Amino acid sequence: MELDPKGISSKNNYSLMKTINQYEPSYGIEEAKEVEAYLKTNGWLTEFRQTRRFEEELAKFTGAKYCSVVINGTVSLFIALKALGIGRGNEVIVPDITMAATPNAALLCGATPVFVDIEPHSHCIDLNQIKKAISKKTKAVIHVSLNGRAGELSMLKKFCKEKGLHLIEDAAQSLGSFYNGRHLGLNGAVGSFSLSIHKLITTGQGGFVITNNKQIHDSIKMLKDFGRKKGGMDNYLKVGWNFKFTDIQASFGIAQLRKIDDRIKFKRWLFDLYKNFLSDVSQIKFLETDLTQTTPWFVDIMVNNRNSLMKYLKEKGIDTRPVYPALHTQHAYNGSSDVKFTNSYRESERVAKKCLWLPSSFTLKEEDIRYICNVIREYYKIKKVL
Ligand SMILES: *Cc1c(COP(=O)(O)O)cnc(C)c1O
Repeated sequence: MELDPKGISSKNNYSLMKTINQYEPSYGIEEAKEVEAYLKTNGWLTEFRQTRRFEEELAKFTGAKYCSVVINGTVSLFIALKALGIGRGNEVIVPDITMAATPNAALLCGATPVFVDIEPHSHCIDLNQIKKAISKKTKAVIHVSLNGRAGELSMLKKFCKEKGLHLIEDAAQSLGSFYNGRHLGLNGAVGSFSLSIHKLITTGQGGFVITNNKQIHDSIKMLKDFGRKKGGMDNYLKVGWNFKFTDIQASFGIAQLRKIDDRIKFKRWLFDLYKNFLSDVSQIKFLETDLTQTTPWFVDIMVNNRNSLMKYLKEKGIDTRPVYPALHTQHAYNGSSDVKFTNSYRESERVAKKCLWLPSSFTLKEEDIRYICNVIREYYKIKKVL
């Protein structure tokens, strides 16, 4: 829990108004120890042994053959597209509800993102809408497993195979989430993840890609290091950049990764607890979520009068966050000839209007959730939970 800004210790007395943030960072002595131990080795700071170790551990955790860390989850998408040869003149299909990083990674490599509507039950890209949006120029589909939910991924996988399209998974929100028992990120050519501060584990900034394809992996390794096969050997085989990690971040990440099983349990517990405390509030809808597979990074609900509820919660010291806007409505893309739109965005507009992220930090206690849910119940004039 955040320290009381007024310095009032108010553990159980919420009327003293402590703020519950929608999210706050979580790390401690374990990360400090790991970073300190690394610094004592007089290492070169840039990526080397600690980073290789971190990559191996991430590969092991996800069940991937190969893993490469990069500077963030935007670059991990960019480098995935690049490794697949996607660039100018190609269209990349993306969902209309996602973080801007998804279409912007396509734009960064010169391709045209095509915004497509989502499915109502999973908030993932809708295969039927993809079918209407593909053209001769379509080269790839980016599937975003929003909040760890995968939607109709196996059908999408089959479709991409039939049509000869690359499937890329933007699994930035899906570390710790599975689909038919397998970790997300391995259903297409490449899976992309973020290690930014809100994600299940963090290195401050950071991202990584996983793949089972050695050629793609080798290509990514080169693209993140100026197109060289090896540092110190300036022989450029491709046009590449510097997207390398640091061993400081890797040390921090190794300590975070040790907590991942507990974090998965926590997020699932949190989702379930909110759901139980709000189960009889008919105005609030939870998405169907299989908590044996999905690890929601944030607890998301669907409500009609979102802004009014948000305002009420804010007055009671509870911060929430609306989900992403429907991207086709955004100034960045609206009227731009660098992107393409389709005809219907019924579901993305609905989700953009109704979906709300509730406080979801690792620091939350059961009493906090009880408090938050009681305030929500109060708003709807429903008697408190015990
Ligand atoms: C967080 C996120 C990203 C971007 O990751 P960064 O590390 O912040 O660049 C991309 N896609 C989705 C779906 C995300 O949630």
